[in-house]
Amino acid sequence: MTDTNGMTDETDRAQRLAEIRARIAKAAEIAGRKPEDIALIAVSKTHPAAAIEPLLEQGQRIFGENRVQEAADKWPSLKARYPDVVLHLIGQLQSNKAADAVALFDCIHVVDRPSLVTALGKAMRESGRRPDCYLQVNIGDEPQKGGCAIADLPALLDAARAADLPVAGLMCLPPADVEPAPYFALMAKLARDCGLSGLSMGMSDDFETAVTIGATHVRIGSALFGARGHRA
Ligand SMILES: *Cc1c(COP(=O)(O)O)cnc(C)c1O
Repeated sequence: MTDTNGMTDETDRAQRLAEIRARIAKAAEIAGRKPEDIALIAVSKTHPAAAIEPLLEQGQRIFGENRVQEAADKWPSLKARYPDVVLHLIGQLQSNKAADAVALFDCIHVVDRPSLVTALGKAMRESGRRPDCYLQVNIGDEPQKGGCAIADLPALLDAARAADLPVAGLMCLPPADVEPAPYFALMAKLARDCGLSGLSMGMSDDFETAVTIGATHVRIGSALFGARGHRA
């Protein structure tokens, strides 16, 4: 799959989008849920505007990016033509980029430490913009991953509420190459304990499992766009 192949890739992406929507609907049905209660975030990181356009033409409006700068380069011109696009930030955020993130994104999935809560609170007060926030949990307790420790979640939630962030739910990236269902189930329990309804979990390889366990947002990149040039 390359982008040099114009039409073939466009048709492929439209087809893959339809297939993924159908798979989400099927998983929702199995779990007795409504498909419209699950948002498909098309993760367009590393992919150029030309690769994103076919999905916009198919009606996809929710997209995820993992870098503020890349999104700032790519999205303003697309948003000018598709003003109802909803942009989600799903990659780690430095506090010094909080204002840029608040200006550009409609939802921030990576709130994982008090210093970032403070920076986001300040950026929201100054800009008047209030993107939904998800608290990222390091559900597999992996040192290389972002996310707060499970034990720190109640304090982080208190801090986020004290800073008046609009906290919508929890987000996780479970450990790779192991069965994700137990981690998703733990996330669902943590969200219930926190009184939060949003659950951002499930990617290309495991989104159906995530949907059956209660995901409200699945973040899908490679299954839609094909493999990325590098693992971002
Ligand atoms: C890249 C990424 C995804 C999408 O991953 P795929 O396996 O390509 O679907 C989802 N969530 C986060 C946080 C990511 O960085």
